[in-house]
Amino acid sequence: MQVFPCPFCGERPDAEFRYGGDARKARPARDCSDAEWAQYMHFRANTRGESLELWLHAAGCGRWIEIRRDTASHVVIATEPMNR
Ligand SMILES: [Zn+2]
Repeated sequence: MQVFPCPFCGERPDAEFRYGGDARKARPARDCSDAEWAQYMHFRANTRGESLELWLHAAGCGRWIEIRRDTASHVVIATEPMNR
């Protein structure tokens, strides 16, 4: 088990969180093509190293947060409220 520091609740077990995707990925415009929408929804860069991800504290405060972590070591570098 890993611990994620929720900016609202403090350190909580990772099982309480649900992954929400890459926080750096821009949502396409509403009138985008099907191909653009499919690219946004289904394709991931799967980068090794530092990433910025959206996580929902589903079994906690219910808020979305951004977690900067290393995908190779799983070390959490920082967390903050979702900035969108
Ligand atoms: Zn929380």
